[in-house]
Amino acid sequence: MNRTDLIACHECDALLRKPLLSAKSSARCPRCGATLFRSSSIHLERICAVTLGALITFLIAQAFPIVELEINGITSQTTLIGALVALWNQDMEIVAAFVFCSTILFPLTELLALLYVLVPVRAGLVPPGFNRVLRAIQFVRPWGMIEVFMLGILITVVKMVSLARVIPEAALFAFGALTLMFAVVVMFDPRTLWDIADGLPHRKARSAPGLG
Ligand SMILES: [Zn+2]
Repeated sequence: MNRTDLIACHECDALLRKPLLSAKSSARCPRCGATLFRSSSIHLERICAVTLGALITFLIAQAFPIVELEINGITSQTTLIGALVALWNQDMEIVAAFVFCSTILFPLTELLALLYVLVPVRAGLVPPGFNRVLRAIQFVRPWGMIEVFMLGILITVVKMVSLARVIPEAALFAFGALTLMFAVVVMFDPRTLWDIADGLPHRKARSAPGLG
């Protein structure tokens, strides 16, 4: 028997075979009646909704101007991308690239990758490249967490090289909301998806040819 198929009761230490759960049910210890674990489908619904919400908030944060720049006497409002381009043109390529990765590329990768695995798994399917996508999420995750810090660095540097001020409008509030949503998203351990995928009927798992 596979060792991962076993579960120990936290109340009476009985070693049991881990049962496969249908949606919205929970497993109980047959000896003492304690709840062993609950089906993660409810949890999955919630994390799916938060991830989708975070993606929409992310797009709002990128679409609206966040800083007002004054370069060569011309004042213009610009989005995060615009501020990064301005930074790049001021010969600060490394800072621009670093901020781009941590505030745009990696958070966007994590959100899209999570949705790519969450939506099919919720429907009982294992998407192609499932394992690779989960590994990618674990790789980009630490970078997404320093987003706020990098945003602070960006604003400081932009202020240093030009007359700039932060616009307290839609984009800034969206970034604030995104930070909270990301805190919820990163609490979700993608490894639980492996457990859920293992529990899916073999027939459905085989229908995804690129599994790996
Ligand atoms: Zn027990």
